[in-house]
Amino acid sequence: MTGIDADGLRARYRAERDKRLRADGSEQYIEPVGQFAHYLDDPYVVPTPREPLFDEVTVAFIGGGFAGLVTGARLKQAGIESVRIIEKGGDFGGTWYWNRYPGAQCDTAAFVYLPLLEETGHMPSEKYTHAPEILDHCRRIADHFDLYENACLSTEVTGLDWDDDTKRWIIRTNRGDEMRAQFVAMGTGPLHRPKLPGIPGIESYEGHSFHTSRWDYEYTGGNPAGAPLDQLGDKRVGIIGTGATAVQCIPHLAPACAELFVFQRTPSSIDVRNNHPIDPDWFETLEPGWQAEWLMNFTTLQTGGFTDEDLVMDGWTDISKRIRDKVLSSGGEFTRETFIKAYEDSDDEKMTEIRARVDALVTDRQTAEALKPWYRQLCKRPCFHDEYLDAYNEPGTHLVDTDGKGVERIDATGVWANGEHFELDCLIYASGFEVGTDYARRAGFDAVGRDGEHLSQHWADGMQSLHGIHVHGFPNLFVVGFTQGANLISNVPHNLTEAGRTIAMIVDHALDVGAAEVEVTEAAEQAWVERLEAGAVARMTNSPDCTPGYYNNEGQSTGRRGTLNSMGYPEGPVAYFQYIDAWRNSGEFEGLDFR
Ligand code: NDP
Repeated sequence: MTGIDADGLRARYRAERDKRLRADGSEQYIEPVGQFAHYLDDPYVVPTPREPLFDEVTVAFIGGGFAGLVTGARLKQAGIESVRIIEKGGDFGGTWYWNRYPGAQCDTAAFVYLPLLEETGHMPSEKYTHAPEILDHCRRIADHFDLYENACLSTEVTGLDWDDDTKRWIIRTNRGDEMRAQFVAMGTGPLHRPKLPGIPGIESYEGHSFHTSRWDYEYTGGNPAGAPLDQLGDKRVGIIGTGATAVQCIPHLAPACAELFVFQRTPSSIDVRNNHPIDPDWFETLEPGWQAEWLMNFTTLQTGGFTDEDLVMDGWTDISKRIRDKVLSSGGEFTRETFIKAYEDSDDEKMTEIRARVDALVTDRQTAEALKPWYRQLCKRPCFHDEYLDAYNEPGTHLVDTDGKGVERIDATGVWANGEHFELDCLIYASGFEVGTDYARRAGFDAVGRDGEHLSQHWADGMQSLHGIHVHGFPNLFVVGFTQGANLISNVPHNLTEAGRTIAMIVDHALDVGAAEVEVTEAAEQAWVERLEAGAVARMTNSPDCTPGYYNNEGQSTGRRGTLNSMGYPEGPVAYFQYIDAWRNSGEFEGLDFR
């Protein structure tokens, strides 16, 4: 693409970033506690009363999202029957239990995003499946591996303590339970606790309001399957936020509301979605083992590697292939410098296309200008949608662009922005989730290990682990996530499925050899952290071309703690998956002490 003024773009990006930088950084958000606690209520299930439990299981898993489901599945496959998943929501699903807002769908292709498709025999109906199908798939996994049998749903863990005398974890919950488990794994999710914008006066609003992760269909009408929101025809509705969630639900709100006011601080980048139904005849042609092959194919291409073909063919692999091919066409030497140059050039092209797409789809010129993103595509979560931009052509839909400043204040009847008052019947917070806050604050409990050490103390200066799974001082405890492991952000379930396999093999081995405890040695933990830290490179999102957001701690430095809490295997996700496969298959479990 010719005619791009790279220097001009850079200057514009920096000016836009500067407009949005705030001294309060992540502190600008407020926790849903006290008078805001009701924003967390479960709108879907009324908890069934039950007697408290004082029993014992072999493995307890905290969290019933993908992490719990895939780990539970791998444990069952390994023949470990006594598995209990403890979940705050009224069913399995995690993110997909809570997020039922209209239009919710996966952003990564279902063939790689949905775990255990071959094991459960499910064919995704679309390339990017919608939320109800994903929630059904979660339930399918739970059914298939008998995970409902022993589960504690609508149950929040409030305490987790290691009892060194009996070599058991004691788990306390808000249901009065005091259960014991030989092993505990935690998959409490990186983005599960809704946050609210700390806008002055937020507590004074008297109209109806809710957070997108607790969508109130009783108020709006409609349902998660896409039925029209038929109770909004006489309502003035406001939505704060234009991130990945808002991008998916605004196309459903726009035709339904009498008036819709979208309060925008920073526009998202909206690339083409190109969703399509899956052809069952084609699905039949896939050979056994296809999902593992697709996963590695996606991961390889998404992280700049080479394969004979692109099986997934989506926006994620497209970004990386562009960068890789630019390096090749400019001489082919892969150094940090050639990579950055190729990244910047291909990003300039991509973002120019994305801004041109806004012009092509949005009729009103002023609205189109305000919807153009001025930053690099990977500074914020890239969005892909084929109806979002058109939603602004609906006569009742108004973009209230705040030029990076955000909503000024909220009062009893509505919202103030740009010095203007917008009276509203309903205010929807599409304001996202806590990221990077203390894990115990997000999880709602703090594990207490051997010698009474709290996990939050052990991690006070940043996460310390082997493989992101094992923590010294916390025997028989496993953490399931992606940090300090593969760190594959574009397809989180892939990280979880591999971690689940690793944990199942370790538990199986511990039971086989009759070990009461398995724990990472201090030396192995330290060596792993040192190795990852030595290979950690400055994150692209920290560049001055990046607008603030949760990807870069709202533009503020996080120091070493931030590096430890976000780093992954230096050689990348593909190398990590190969490494961990060899590590666990060797049967040595190097770095772990079985005793
Ligand atoms: P985000 O954190 O991405 O977005 C929050 C929004 O609220 C931003 O647009 C933010 O503006 C805005 N905001 C905050 N404070 C104010 C204020 N005072 N005035 C005006 N606007 C304000 O949350 P989302 O729920 O959209 O997405 C969170 C993450 O969840 C995604 O990044 C993605 O990882 C995941 N997700 C995944 C999906 C999928 O895979 N299908 C779908 C949806 C979400 P600003 O940008 O200026 O900070």
